Amino acid sequence: MLVIYNSKSKQKEIFKPIRANEVTMYVCGITVYDYCHIGHARLMVAFDVINRYLRYCGYKVNYVRNITDIDDKIIKRALENKESMHALTTRFINALTEDMQALGTLTPDSEPKATDYVPQMVTLIETLIAKGLAYVGTTGDVYFDVTQFKNYGKLAHKDLEALEAGSRVAIVEAKKTPLDFVLWKMSKENEPYWPSPWGNGRPGWHTECVVMSSLELGQPFDIHGGGNDLKFPHHENEIAQAEGAYEKPFVNYWMHVGFVEINKEKMSKSLNNFFTIHEVLREWKNEVVRYFLLYGHYRSPMDYSLEALEGAQSALDRLYGALRGLALPTEIIENDVAKAYETRFMEAMDDDFNTPVALSVLFDLVRELNRNKIEEPDNVIALAQMLKKLAAVLGLLTEPVENYFQQDAHSAIAANEIEALIATRRSARAEKNWAKADEVRQQLAQKGVMIEDSDNETTWRYQ
Ligand SMILES: [Zn+2]
Repeated sequence: MLVIYNSKSKQKEIFKPIRANEVTMYVCGITVYDYCHIGHARLMVAFDVINRYLRYCGYKVNYVRNITDIDDKIIKRALENKESMHALTTRFINALTEDMQALGTLTPDSEPKATDYVPQMVTLIETLIAKGLAYVGTTGDVYFDVTQFKNYGKLAHKDLEALEAGSRVAIVEAKKTPLDFVLWKMSKENEPYWPSPWGNGRPGWHTECVVMSSLELGQPFDIHGGGNDLKFPHHENEIAQAEGAYEKPFVNYWMHVGFVEINKEKMSKSLNNFFTIHEVLREWKNEVVRYFLLYGHYRSPMDYSLEALEGAQSALDRLYGALRGLALPTEIIENDVAKAYETRFMEAMDDDFNTPVALSVLFDLVRELNRNKIEEPDNVIALAQMLKKLAAVLGLLTEPVENYFQQDAHSAIAANEIEALIATRRSARAEKNWAKADEVRQQLAQKGVMIEDSDNETTWRYQ
């Protein structure tokens, strides 16, 4: 029985989807004006695992992750770069797709772009004005009137007064109260704009997600996710608009992912303490980064450090190492010893997607597998197949084993050069030129490459 921590009730709840065996899930995606950093990667990988596990449990999942391609930061960056907004966002959507592929995330079922939904956003704003929930401010921008929505603050668990006192909202004279948020922003000269009853302008960020999620998934839908920083005000503001306009619940389960921190500070663009996914993948194997991101529970903050990545590398080496030299048939072998690990793995994942515990089950499985190689060879194939099957739910152990050991981001020698040297050594051995063969072996060792000869094959790995 799957249990999910709902940020709205602040407790774990039994997951009951709206339609049996189907899950509708929306995750606030990326504002595309720069490369994504490791904090973004964590959010994407966390929801990728949730998506994969729901499918593994047999749910038909409709996973929507939006792209914010209109925003003040985008406009500013495009002007700085002297390029069109479209050229800028296209470039970074491509970079995002590349990053997500490298991290092994499944493509969402839909990736709507905000700019494709502007007329529908205008319709929503008209509805809110008609209901007395929104107004045109003195400068022509349209605002949501938070005092008119009685449940405002329910997700943040604070009333209006406490929210106003606690948040650093700028006093803008055009607004009635400081927490009122912009729904439609009038465009300035040289800014991109769309027509509306209030003049040429662009939608506010909080409006985008309401429109894209409910049009793609219906209202209510099952799961809405995002980073912890989106809980307030972004998600609170989404609820106010959706429930205010349509007078029915918006979302059943709110899920929020913890930050990646560096020295106990949130990794963020504004603090300039971030590492981009591009940078990190130059130094570390793709799956090592993915493993690192799953090593903490998705709700807890996690520290980014060299030691943590090294730990992820050696842990993943152990998982792959257990599969070395085993030829696995495609036909799955049923086996009770192996099956018991699946039960334990699912218990961990059913408990609010507890990946650290799920990973510890994989390590227990590896210990059993390694022991059985000597003591119970009959179980070995079934255990190895189960290891691969469960790791795949986390998006791990997806590479052929030898490929994994042969890729090394900071190696001193490329794989094709190694293959060429091994071929030279093979000819030397065939000619019984042992001195030459040994020389090649030493040459490889100096570059950190170990070779092993079996019957008539030579395998290699970086040390
Ligand atoms: Zn959003």
